[in-house]
Amino acid sequence: MKLVTGASTDVGRQRAANEDAYLVDPDRSLYAVADGMGGHRAGEVASAAAIEALAGGVGTGMALVDAVASANTRILERAGDDPELAGMGTTLTAMTMRGGSTAVLAHVGDSRAYLLRNGDLVQVTEDHSVVEGLVREGRITPEQAEHHPSRSMLTRALGVDHHVEVAGYEVDLLPGDRLMLCSDGLTTMMRDREIAVVLRAARDPLDAASTLVDAANRAGGADNITVVVLDVVAEEGDEPAAAPVGDAAVVRATPSGHWELEADLVDPTPGAGAAVATTGASARRPWRTVVFVGVPVLLVVLIGLGAVGWYARRTYYVGLDGDRVALYQGVPGGLLWWDETVERRSDVTVDELTVAQRVDLGDGHRFSSLDAATRFLARIEHDAEGDDAKATDDAAPERTDLTGSGPTGSGPTGGGR
Ligand code: MN
Repeated sequence: MKLVTGASTDVGRQRAANEDAYLVDPDRSLYAVADGMGGHRAGEVASAAAIEALAGGVGTGMALVDAVASANTRILERAGDDPELAGMGTTLTAMTMRGGSTAVLAHVGDSRAYLLRNGDLVQVTEDHSVVEGLVREGRITPEQAEHHPSRSMLTRALGVDHHVEVAGYEVDLLPGDRLMLCSDGLTTMMRDREIAVVLRAARDPLDAASTLVDAANRAGGADNITVVVLDVVAEEGDEPAAAPVGDAAVVRATPSGHWELEADLVDPTPGAGAAVATTGASARRPWRTVVFVGVPVLLVVLIGLGAVGWYARRTYYVGLDGDRVALYQGVPGGLLWWDETVERRSDVTVDELTVAQRVDLGDGHRFSSLDAATRFLARIEHDAEGDDAKATDDAAPERTDLTGSGPTGSGPTGGGR
């Protein structure tokens, strides 16, 4: 079988620059989408560097996950060399072929891979994002996730740390399958079922990719949009395709691995990916099943609850309120009856954060005193200001304009779905 491809990318309707990048390389059977982040166009550099390092790595015979890890290293090196690029990062979703009929994917971040088979759309990759974690833990529904203020907060990205965990997936392809790689500029503007309608109807991959980009723009185009579509086509001399056993096992997650800079050996830790899903929340649940057996027990319980309340109110964290960074009193998500409250809302928006800050603030960065939290927030505000000043100095008025038009594109109406 062979792959027929089509791709489309667009800056969208609200951004000054396209920081997405993609790769379609039929000779190496290598396909990828990267979504860069970082002030002052560093995101463009990050996504391009990631794609370049990926292609270079695969070109020298590296396994796909290793090549993704090497892209991480490359971004950190470039960011270290140039203060203008400090804090840049990117997502990367890459795909190659093995043995003629198996798609192998390596993935970090919230760009996505999908498979359309027999008219059904399946999301192959799992987002490394805060809301994905909340959905997995059952704390919010997928519908709530679509409008959640933290939906652009990542739990993993390239360029954050020398240590990166790359997720791997495999799909045994059948003739007639249609694969899609895309950045979140598509999936935050369109629901899966709307995407499926287009993917089913489009006559060829290029038509599918450009129709999806147009549709995301019509829905608001809040972010850069990139779509790569790959059709699996039977060739003369193919073995007759074996029908898959059942529907369930279409996508296999391969063990994710940890990679460190300069560590030349992979340390595959099966199940390590699951560790990310269990941050804090599940540990609190047993509290809810307290049984009252008598007055002494009740007293103990009340004292315990008092302690929990005291803890909940003595904790501060810096996280997101809508698309703004805010200082909260309480713990993220609240604790029992003690909901978190916004202590101070800053002018800094999600878009102004570095990728490391996005990852850091994803679950709320906690402090045991208001002072420490205030200092931390002040540092973020200072960083963001420095960035603005730089942008203005270098005569990049479009960035200032963007900030100025912020209110129209933010808040509950800004999702534009
Ligand atoms: Mn994006």
